[in-house]
Amino acid sequence: MAKYIKNEQMEKLISLCKRRGFIFQSSEIYGGMNSCWDYGPLGVELKRNIKNFWWKKMVTSRENVVGMDAGILMHPKVWEASGHVENFHDPLIDCKSCRTRFREDKAPHVFKCSKCIMKFKIVNGVIEGKSKYTKLFESTIAGEPHTYVGSECPRCKNENAIELEGLECPKCGGNDFTEAKQFNLMFKTHYGPSEDTASQIYLRPETAQGIFVNFSNISNTIRTKLPFGVGQIGKAFRNEITTGNFIFRSREFEQMEMEFFIKDDESKQWYEYWIKERFEFYKQLGINKENLRLRDHEENELAHYARGCTDVEYKFPFGWSELEGIADRKSYDLQQHIDASGKNLTYFDQEANEHFVPSVIETSAGVDRTLLTVLADAYWDDVENNRVVMSLSPKIAPVKVAIFPLVNKDNMPEIAKKIFDNVSEHLAAFYDKAGSIGRRYRRQDEAGTPFGITVDSQTLEDGTVTLRDRDTLEQIRIPQDKVLSVLIEKVNI
Ligand code: ATP
Repeated sequence: MAKYIKNEQMEKLISLCKRRGFIFQSSEIYGGMNSCWDYGPLGVELKRNIKNFWWKKMVTSRENVVGMDAGILMHPKVWEASGHVENFHDPLIDCKSCRTRFREDKAPHVFKCSKCIMKFKIVNGVIEGKSKYTKLFESTIAGEPHTYVGSECPRCKNENAIELEGLECPKCGGNDFTEAKQFNLMFKTHYGPSEDTASQIYLRPETAQGIFVNFSNISNTIRTKLPFGVGQIGKAFRNEITTGNFIFRSREFEQMEMEFFIKDDESKQWYEYWIKERFEFYKQLGINKENLRLRDHEENELAHYARGCTDVEYKFPFGWSELEGIADRKSYDLQQHIDASGKNLTYFDQEANEHFVPSVIETSAGVDRTLLTVLADAYWDDVENNRVVMSLSPKIAPVKVAIFPLVNKDNMPEIAKKIFDNVSEHLAAFYDKAGSIGRRYRRQDEAGTPFGITVDSQTLEDGTVTLRDRDTLEQIRIPQDKVLSVLIEKVNI
């Protein structure tokens, strides 16, 4: 029977998210809905801040990118033309012992070294219990799970000796499975009152197609020359076979996508440009750069029409995993819609006096995965000071400053409340007068609030207040009437 190690770091993070109101299990009072999540008071702010940051970086701060917001429900022909009806499948297998259904390529793989007969298992790219071998095998799991030839045995170091023995059921440890079936990931629903095949439509599995089908509408209205981009943030739905790792993979999620339309001979330069920009984006969100990397797709991972694809990956507690894909998709998507709709989705180049179908570089990120990344990256146990800290960047922290009266008397609450009223006009602030000051600080440390302002007895004497830094615990005194300007500078928004 297989033994699965609980991922302690993830367990701690999930419990903090619930305790502080970042993320709750969906429909909890009815026993919960597996892999569906609700964002609580802090989570909704964090999510909004991430989306706003993306929108600012990708749309409003650029002269050649505009935004749009397409509907979730679209004409079913969109998904025929895009290839989703025919190709958006995952291989599905059932465990014959416990009947659990899961994705063949994501199941734990058991390997054997033919030289020293050592057996080992890879789950999510990590060899169980032997993390120092992670690097050796991590790339093989994402690409072609069946090809391990060429890898070195973790024990005897023999080359080319690794063979796949089989899969292992993640639930019961069984190793007998049904043949793989292809399962389409699109959610189906019906449009209007009759539930027949004619009224069957899909919930969009990505936001990108809303941009492609509006290509002419947008290029005619903005009258901008190539290159130009169109960005969009919105919900997407995929009936994933195997969900999990908290909000990393769920069936309802949000995407932040941008399609950048270009002349085909400029594709290399723009592809490289966007890879760099997108990598920088995650650093600007405050994520540790040692935990980020770029991974080029192997030739055999690429869709047939794509010239290149690079993922931004993050080192989650469960292994390196994709946050975003940057892809050179040539003119495939527009051409597919031209062929299917018979409409002219070309661009007219006035200088060259010619019509052509632009190529596209796509940047496709997940909001929820980005949020999980910032949370996982921010979490640390400050054992020395007996507290848990979320070192969220002030740019995206849900609350920028918490304002406290030290005690509930001597006019301190009134002064603190006045400061709160002034600051909260400009920054997300929180006023808290209940409980011991130590406990109030610790609550804000867990919420990721970067600054604290405390009104104490010295305030009554000289008008100064304490400014506390969440990460360093440094406390300085600043004049009460400078609180807003000091904070605005520190938060840097
Ligand atoms: P994966 O290989 O993890 O299934 P993908 O390559 O199918 O992802 P894309 O189709 O490229 O993903 O989607 C772009 C982005 O959307 C992903 O990088 C991810 O951030 C997000 N995303 C995709 N599927 C999900 C999901 N089920 N739950 C949460 N986010 C998702």
